[in-house]
Amino acid sequence: MTALINAKGLVRCYEGQKSLFKRATPVRAVDGVDLTVAPGETLGIVGESGSGKSTLGRMLLGIDPPTEGHVTFDSQPMPPLQSPSWRTLRAQMQLIYQDPLAALDRRLTIADQIGEPLEIHGLAKGAELKERVADLMVQVGLRRDQGDRYPHELSGGQRQRVVIARALATSPRLLVCDEPVSALDVSIQAQVVNLLRDLQDSHGIAMVFISHDLKVVRNICDRVAVMYLGRIVEEASSDQIFASPQHPYSQALVSSVPVPGKALEGRILLKGEPPNPALRPTGCAFHPRCGSAVAACASAVPLLEPVAAGRSSACHLSSVSKGLAA
Ligand code: SF4
Repeated sequence: MTALINAKGLVRCYEGQKSLFKRATPVRAVDGVDLTVAPGETLGIVGESGSGKSTLGRMLLGIDPPTEGHVTFDSQPMPPLQSPSWRTLRAQMQLIYQDPLAALDRRLTIADQIGEPLEIHGLAKGAELKERVADLMVQVGLRRDQGDRYPHELSGGQRQRVVIARALATSPRLLVCDEPVSALDVSIQAQVVNLLRDLQDSHGIAMVFISHDLKVVRNICDRVAVMYLGRIVEEASSDQIFASPQHPYSQALVSSVPVPGKALEGRILLKGEPPNPALRPTGCAFHPRCGSAVAACASAVPLLEPVAAGRSSACHLSSVSKGLAA
């Protein structure tokens, strides 16, 4: 199947912090990422804060232009940010942020905000616009009569439903959801995740689901890419990652996911915090925190290579080198 999104060799550099005595060192927030997203697929991107997940998500939408590499959408090169063709394409790819209150305009009613993309892209007006807005509200579990309300009059979960309705207004083919439930109460998170899953099933939308919460990712994603310091260190189906993570970093993340009715046995505690991306460790960037590191890890960079059908890992101790590939 042709990929909807195809990213090759993505690098995003930012200027690092300057000090009185030192020049700024460029920070490679995303450092050589290849990935694809198939139509209708949900790809999870996981990792700790600072791993480059959000930057990668914005790069897939063309919001953050790559320093190196390129992205295609439906086999067409991503147009430059804010160009007329990018604005047209934007209707087919939407972003859902973590904080719905920040994403909404406090001065506009809910109905106006959901209808805005329909007006901007010339998709509906007048009575048809009103009907489409009401229909979108119902689809996301809001009542029609809530359209006259303002964002501050709704709960956090309701506000995120408004953001989702607005994202759906242009019938997108791709949704990038960046920590879409992490600002919500735990009791509301499952409702919003279920809503996203139902909408994805019914509309066949491809989704990139960025999260540090592996419980949620397990619930919604078909495939998972694990990021560490700007690089993908493991990529596999969700079942493979959660049943038998290959990379020591993935193993540590998965070991911390609670399983209902089971004590957290065998949890792997990571040493320290992720390093400053401006001071990337040599060799495998994970080696200062890795309990399995060998001498070569401090000098040789492991490549992301296939270790079994449909899965890849970037570790010198990968299954292939040990002859354990399933
Ligand atoms: Fe650990 Fe070495 Fe594998 Fe990196 S390459 S994850 S340091 S064993």
